[in-house]
Amino acid sequence: MYFNHVIEAVGHTPLVKLNKVTDGIKGTILAKVEYFNPGNSVKDRMAIRMIEDAEKAGLIQPGGTIIEGTSGNTGMGLALAAIAKGYKTVFVMSDKQSKEKQDILRAVGAEVVVCPVDVAPEDPRSYYSVARRLSQETPNSYYPNQYDNLSNAAAHYESTGPEIWNGTEGKITHYACGVGTGGTISGASKYLKEQNPAIVTVGLDTYGSVFKKYKETGIFDENEIYPYKTEGIGEDILPKNVDFDQIDLFIKVTDQDAAVMTRRLAKEEGLFVGWSCGSAVFGALEYAREHLKEDDTMVIVLPDHGTRYLGKIYNDDWMREQGWL
Ligand code: PMP
Repeated sequence: MYFNHVIEAVGHTPLVKLNKVTDGIKGTILAKVEYFNPGNSVKDRMAIRMIEDAEKAGLIQPGGTIIEGTSGNTGMGLALAAIAKGYKTVFVMSDKQSKEKQDILRAVGAEVVVCPVDVAPEDPRSYYSVARRLSQETPNSYYPNQYDNLSNAAAHYESTGPEIWNGTEGKITHYACGVGTGGTISGASKYLKEQNPAIVTVGLDTYGSVFKKYKETGIFDENEIYPYKTEGIGEDILPKNVDFDQIDLFIKVTDQDAAVMTRRLAKEEGLFVGWSCGSAVFGALEYAREHLKEDDTMVIVLPDHGTRYLGKIYNDDWMREQGWL
């Protein structure tokens, strides 16, 4: 048995029980380890789905160029899809994302444009604006726009959600997931709540992001927006893929708590995962400690791999510079 192309190997990632970091917590805590995808992240699922939906809708032509704003992982998924299907790729990233992510994207043949992070989303220099402008200027190009393209959440409704439901034999009681574009949490949560409406969905947010306050008050509060370091979760916009009806509550996690928990996942669980995995586990366990009962099963999505953060949270000098070690 073999795959005709590596993109056919996307999905069917394992659920792995957490044994050490869960000390003192009742119930079973399972991690959905998304680095087993060929692009080493959860975003492979939606990247391929966005391209296939665009092809079906006639939005992208043979030999065309895919142009996207990305924190890195969506770019990797799009790059693999582009290689399989014969497209070029241009990715626009902010300078806060790790150097490793830029290098990995260039390694798979993409052109990478880096923009300043410390400008408002509507500023012409922001990575959102530059991606949109380049797609308007480039002939035969397609701009997936992962934030508002609902093929993103649909991919998780069709793959991540059913995999979690079947993998737990329907025993899941709590679903916990970091929120960036919102696709992973909203799509899988919709599927899971359709199977069992009692499932509680916990969204993990960062300090410096608008989601938690918006869920609790309905107010888009600009005062919630300030710089933070965690990559891949939290936003200064409200993407269409965040379906607040599918998310019961948000918990915010600091950059430091996330980084320290990520290092613990590597050392204590053997899970060499990315920084937002620490955010997801730290926040989810905070909730679990207070609310989970013996028979409960919580599934936490771990979005990506540790190699993307070797120069940051896995580097002792960098950690010391932050005062986190
Ligand atoms: N963690 C990482 C490392 C990511 O790259 C992303 C994608 N932005 C997420 C979490 C959040 O996933 P989603 O966009 O589906 O909300």
